[in-house]
Amino acid sequence: MPATLIDGKLLSSVLRDELRERIERVADHGYKPGLVVILVGADPASSVYVKNKIKACEDVGIYSVFEHLPATASEEELLDVIQAYNDDDSIQGILVQLPLPAHLDAHKVIEAIAAEKDVDGFHLSSVGALVTGKPLFRPCTPYGVMKMLEAHEIPLRGAHAVVVGASNIVGKPMAMLLLQAGATVTICNSKTKDLAHHTKQADILIAAVGKPNMITSSMVKPGAVVIDVGINRLPDGKLVGDVDFNSVKYVAGYLTPVPGGVGPMTITMLLTNTVEAAERACATQLAS
Ligand code: NDP
Repeated sequence: MPATLIDGKLLSSVLRDELRERIERVADHGYKPGLVVILVGADPASSVYVKNKIKACEDVGIYSVFEHLPATASEEELLDVIQAYNDDDSIQGILVQLPLPAHLDAHKVIEAIAAEKDVDGFHLSSVGALVTGKPLFRPCTPYGVMKMLEAHEIPLRGAHAVVVGASNIVGKPMAMLLLQAGATVTICNSKTKDLAHHTKQADILIAAVGKPNMITSSMVKPGAVVIDVGINRLPDGKLVGDVDFNSVKYVAGYLTPVPGGVGPMTITMLLTNTVEAAERACATQLAS
């Protein structure tokens, strides 16, 4: 029997309805969650991502600002813009779209964002909080994957999770969240020997590499939960994941499609983090 599909679009719409209610509750205290998305330059893929984020804010009722700086903007200019939003009470979330032009130091830029407004979860304070088990903001993509597993009541305690890919924005935080949920976690990277040996042991397999269809059916344990984070555009324009969907669907127990899987969840978790930031700001205000 083919795998059960984990529909990220459907789950996103359920979560967005919940967010609308939370936004109404903070509105009762005079708060409106606000997000600024900062884009430097005009990279076409980044421009699409930014547009989608702004549109998603409008969809749920989050106030959003699009701050567009030229590709030639200096580090000082960008840091000044971030500082202005750090000080702006109408904004609870600050996101700098990555990658930045090469002359800008992404690490320094992310560190300039006030930790309580770091809705992407990339600030060192957020990373440290995540690793020590007291997350401030969970990075959006792994957070979305956890919500998908939760929605399908996938048991995590004692499960063997294998994460293929170890980037700072997906693989590493993904592994950390799974570990904290009680899974036994293996992390693979480009140097891993005999990748299939590891993936075949996974009760939960997360592919976050960026290589079209690299996870084939022979690499998957029958009945496994397979989450495809990859987004790859083929020369014919078609979008595919890192998992060979057409063969793996006959082996896996659960599988996410691409598109329509993890992608929509990532933006919804950005909205979630922004609402969480606003709720915290609201609670602090009420307590003072
Ligand atoms: P990166 O390029 O930053 O990281 C890729 C990781 O995969 C690295 O850790 C790398 O290892 C590892 N890797 C490369 N080749 C292999 C291999 N043959 N076997 C095992 N591991 C390998 O990518 P990202 O983490 O940013 O993104 C991964 C994918 O997820 C991309 O397709 C991206 O587009 C997609 N993505 C999707 C999102 C969504 O919302 N659905 C959000 C973010 C990303 P090493 O560390 O050794 O270099």
